[in-house]
Amino acid sequence: MTDRTASVRVECVQGNIAAQPDMDAIVNAANGELMPGSGVAGAIHGAAGPELAEECRPLAPIQPGQAVITGAHKLPNRHVIHCLGPVYGVDEPSDRLLAECIHNALRLADHHGLASIAFPAISTGVFGYPLDQAAEVVMEAVADTLDELRTVRTIRFVLFSDDDLAVFESARKAQSGLA
Ligand code: ADP
Repeated sequence: MTDRTASVRVECVQGNIAAQPDMDAIVNAANGELMPGSGVAGAIHGAAGPELAEECRPLAPIQPGQAVITGAHKLPNRHVIHCLGPVYGVDEPSDRLLAECIHNALRLADHHGLASIAFPAISTGVFGYPLDQAAEVVMEAVADTLDELRTVRTIRFVLFSDDDLAVFESARKAQSGLA
């Protein structure tokens, strides 16, 4: 068996998820209706233009843990992958549903032959997931999926603040095998 952990780079950066021009796909922390909203969804739809919402309309609604892929329109990426994270303490089990978002987004990127994908901290804004717990779940889900990936070579987490970046970076380091 090949050692995928050596060939997939997992990195955490501070920044804006809608301004990652070197990534094939960016992930949207979507709402179930796949419509523009606040936070990440607002930034992504705002930068992509109204055609993104038009493309999303027939794909909605989606359930917590699900992911769907669209074009990126005016964004500098090839695709947007829309994930519906769990509302913390409401959509249960929240940890499994958040892990499914990561699995499903990575699989979609790989099935489309993409080499790079950038995630925001799904569910940690309006959906209330504590950032440190989310970071652990997410890094474990990445580690669990690495073996399946054939084309994805860079997985980036884009955190809005330096404090959030530090939390994700320490979760990445705690997960053995994430280069
Ligand atoms: P959810 O509804 O899944 O909780 P939000 O969009 O409310 O999603 O927030 C998810 C996380 O993304 C929060 O930690 C928030 O601080 C962060 N965030 C908000 N806007 C951006 C952005 N433009 N780029 C990167 N992260 C962002």
